[in-house]
Amino acid sequence: MDSSPMSIPEKSRPREEVLDAMRSFGQADPDYKNGRTWSLVYYLGEEYTQFLKDAHGMFFSANGLNPMAFKSLKRFESEVIRMTATLLHGDENVCGTMTAGGTESCLLAVKTYRDIAKNKRLSVGKPEMILPESAHVAWEKGAKYFGVKAVHAPLDKNFRVNVNAVRKKINRRTIMILGSAPQYPHGMIDPIEDLGQLAREKNIPLHVDACVGGYLLPFVEQLGYEVPLFDFRIPGVTSISADTHKYGYAAKGASTILYRNIDYLKHQIFVYENWPGGIFASPAILGTRPGGSIAAAWAAMQAMGQEGYLENARVIMKTTRCLMDGVNSIKGLEVLGDPPMSLFAFHSIDKNVNIYAVGDCMEKKGWHIDRQQRPECLHAMVTPLHSDASSRYLTDLAEAVEYVRNHPELATQGAAAMYGMIANVPLRGMIRKEVLNMMADMYGPGGKMPDLAGGELPEDTEDTREQKTDWAAKAAMAFVKLKQKFGK
Ligand SMILES: *Cc1c(COP(=O)(O)O)cnc(C)c1O
Repeated sequence: MDSSPMSIPEKSRPREEVLDAMRSFGQADPDYKNGRTWSLVYYLGEEYTQFLKDAHGMFFSANGLNPMAFKSLKRFESEVIRMTATLLHGDENVCGTMTAGGTESCLLAVKTYRDIAKNKRLSVGKPEMILPESAHVAWEKGAKYFGVKAVHAPLDKNFRVNVNAVRKKINRRTIMILGSAPQYPHGMIDPIEDLGQLAREKNIPLHVDACVGGYLLPFVEQLGYEVPLFDFRIPGVTSISADTHKYGYAAKGASTILYRNIDYLKHQIFVYENWPGGIFASPAILGTRPGGSIAAAWAAMQAMGQEGYLENARVIMKTTRCLMDGVNSIKGLEVLGDPPMSLFAFHSIDKNVNIYAVGDCMEKKGWHIDRQQRPECLHAMVTPLHSDASSRYLTDLAEAVEYVRNHPELATQGAAAMYGMIANVPLRGMIRKEVLNMMADMYGPGGKMPDLAGGELPEDTEDTREQKTDWAAKAAMAFVKLKQKFGK
C-alpha cells in the first residue's frame, strides 16, 4: 500500500472503476443477503430493495431542513407520522416528527422532557431520568449529551423492569421514566401498563421506546399472539419512538418520534430568530435532512400495506418460535425469559459450555452473531429472510455446543477469552479507557484498525501480569468492534 498521505485523486476516475473498487471493498462485509447476520440489517430481497432505491432516488437531492421548502417531503413526513400514530392507537392529537434513526428519536425525547421540566419548575438541580437496566444505549448517550443523570432501575427475573424499584427512584428531579417495547438485549417488553399508572400518579412523562417493536408488535398482536399493551392505549404514555428503518422496512436513516399532543412536541422544536442567515426553525436534531430517507419511508408503508406487514410478521413469528424451541432443545442452552417478539438471547446452563466459545465457533461457520454481557449470552434478531436460514443455524449451533463441550480450552482462546475478560473485569473504568484509546486509534492519524486475531490467554503468574493488561486492552478493542456491529 502507498504510505503517502491520501488526497482526493487529482484526476477524475472513470465511474465504472470507482464502483468496481467499492464492490471489492464490500467483499469482506457480513453476508446479510443469505440470512447470515442476526442484527443490523432488515433485508427483504433484491426486488423490494430496488423499489426502495427508486423511491429514495426520486428525492435524493431534496432537503427536509425547512418544512416549507419541499412540500413533498413535509407531506411524506406528516403522513408517515399519521399512519404510525394510527398504528399505535393514538388519537387525532398525536403528533411528531421523522428523525434520522432511533438514536435521534431517543435523544430528542430526553431533550424535550428536560426542557419541559425546566419550564415547569424554577430549579430542580441536576435532572434525572429513570431507565431500566435494559434500556438501549442511546438513552445513556442522551443522558451524557443533555446533562441528565441516568438512574438505573433493576430488572425482574424475566428481564422486565421492576416497577416498584422505579417508583422508589422517583424524586422531584425526575424528568421522565422509560419503558421499552421490547428492549433490545433480551427482547422482553417492560410492564408498560404499570409504568403508565405510576407516571400518571406522579405526573411524570413516560416514553415508550418501541424503536425496534413499533412496526412489528401491532401486527404480532393482530395475528393473535399475546402482546401486552404498550402504546397510546395506555393513558400514561406521553411519547413513543418507532424506527421505520427497522421492521418498517424503509431505507436506513428513518425513524419517528410521536407525542400525545402538541404541548409536548413544542419543546422539541428549535427556533433561533437572530441568525444572520435568516430566522431558523428546525423540528429535530439534524439541519439538512435527507429527502430520500423520508420519501422511502413513506414508499415502504404504501407498498407494504398492512397485509404486507402482517405477512412478514407471520413468517417472523413462526421462525422465531421455531428458533427458540430449537435453542431450548439443545442440551446446555436456554433462552432468557419468554420474549414475545422476534428478538431473543440465550445463554449456557452447562458450566462446561462457554457461550462465547460457542459464538466463536458459529462465526467460523459464517454466522454473524452478537455477544452480550450481564448475563453472558448470544443474541438473535429475526427477519423474514431467516425462515430459510433457521434450520441450518440450529444444526450449526448444536454442533458448535458439542464441539465446545469437548474442547474446554476454547473458552480461554481467541475472542471468547476477550469477551469473558471484558464481561468480568471489575475495573470498568479501565475497560472504558482502553476502548476509548482504541477508538482514538481508529479515528486518529493513520486510522489504525484493531487487531482482533486473539491468541492464548497467558497463565496467571507474576510475570504475565503486565502482558495481561495488554490483553485486556486487546479485549476492549474486540468489544468495541462488536459493539459497533451491535444494536440495530
Ligand atoms: C435500534 C434501537 C434504538 C436505536 O436506534 P438506531 O436506529 O440504531 O439509532 C433504540 N432503542 C431500541 C429499543 C432499539 O432497538
